[in-house]
Amino acid sequence: MTIKENIQHIEQTIKSKQPNAKLVAVTKSVGEEEMREVFASGIKVIGENRVPSLLEKQKALADIREEIEWHFIGNLQTRPVKDMINQIDYLHSLDRIKLAKEIQKRAEKQVKCFLQVNVSGEDSKSGFSPDEVIDAVSELAAYDKIKIVGLMTMAPIDATEDELHNYFKLLKETQVSVANKNFSHAPCTELSMGMSQDYEIALEEGATHIRVGTALYE
Ligand SMILES: *Cc1c(COP(=O)(O)O)cnc(C)c1O
Repeated sequence: MTIKENIQHIEQTIKSKQPNAKLVAVTKSVGEEEMREVFASGIKVIGENRVPSLLEKQKALADIREEIEWHFIGNLQTRPVKDMINQIDYLHSLDRIKLAKEIQKRAEKQVKCFLQVNVSGEDSKSGFSPDEVIDAVSELAAYDKIKIVGLMTMAPIDATEDELHNYFKLLKETQVSVANKNFSHAPCTELSMGMSQDYEIALEEGATHIRVGTALYE
């Protein structure tokens, strides 16, 4: 199937399960040509997970760059923050206070961030555990360059359907508990969850942003 057909299929699923959700087209595995095809198919929300590729692709797509909403979704070290933090619209991977400190130092305006949550407790995954989230969000009130728009998670690759439902439910419950605090720096209304393998389940559990790569290009 073409990129356009794949996107139409995903948009159909969004429409039937969670009509207000956004498709973040993950383009880490493809180049400029495919990105232009994604754009021509009507998707202007792009996710990249590495700083060098983000910057290269922004340069290659200079003519449409301003029309694109750029989401950074990958693990982020502190060193490259200064190079990219003013080049993106959303950060999905705020996974530690130390990273927030660097953003506070380098950002020229407030950055819309998702706090990354490790719902499964796997050692290989970064992020706050669900029961650390409220404390972390409270602490982030002191960082005026950071706005917590929502929570993000990645489910384990080998989770069963039931487990996926439970992980995504847990993220949603955690999101609602933050939103209910009415923090001015953390409206926390958004849920970034679901990838190629599990976006349908994530939509059923209330995802507002699904991050889909592979399924667009097969
Ligand atoms: C690569 C990636 C995705 C997309 O994964 P696919 O399985 O290709 O859909 C989503 N989120 C993050 C954080 C990623 O690194």
